Amino acid sequence: MQDIVKLIAGFRQFQKNYFRGDSELFSQLKVGQQPKTLVIGCSDSRVDPSLLTGADPGDLFIIRNVANLVPPYEPDAGYHGVSAALEYAVCQLQVEHIIVLGHSQCGGIAGLMSSDCDCQVGEFIGKWVSLAEPAKLRVQEELAGKSEQLQTRACEQAAIMLSLDNLLSFPWLQQRVEAQALSLHGWYFDIQRGELLRYSPEAEGYVTLVPGTNP
Ligand SMILES: [Zn+2]
Repeated sequence: MQDIVKLIAGFRQFQKNYFRGDSELFSQLKVGQQPKTLVIGCSDSRVDPSLLTGADPGDLFIIRNVANLVPPYEPDAGYHGVSAALEYAVCQLQVEHIIVLGHSQCGGIAGLMSSDCDCQVGEFIGKWVSLAEPAKLRVQEELAGKSEQLQTRACEQAAIMLSLDNLLSFPWLQQRVEAQALSLHGWYFDIQRGELLRYSPEAEGYVTLVPGTNP
């Protein structure tokens, strides 16, 4: 119950910050939203995109799911929650940036790395994270014989690249990228080091965006 009490007190603080006194931001947001950036992040409680980037309400349109994965374009009769949010962000809100935000110690990727294809995790999780199976197979081939820890980290990063590729399978998204109206970014938050990395196509790997606080 203490957890819920803390959250209600948190809402009072939010209300005080944004609805009393200086309410200029929400006087605009009451009318509508115009976020310029879509973040696709993990559901992990430690990786809150708004908190990590100091974003204000209205700044980020956010999709969160297990292991921050983007499925490929599949216009069929299925229920495609991620694709629906993606469509809204790109076609209606016309965001200018999409950030796929991965992270270290990702439970979804750890589950994928530790399972074999015959042993799926849970009713839904195993099937969902199997989207990143190509990243897993690539890492296992490239880093054969390396430690599990190293392979898992590499898979977390490769899965971000896979999601960036899958984003481009959506034709209306690819069109906007080609027209330079939309930029794609792959970011990796290293929880242990408090560091932010980004995928660099030029370097064909991850480079530091914000150095960590720990050596
Ligand atoms: Zn995660």
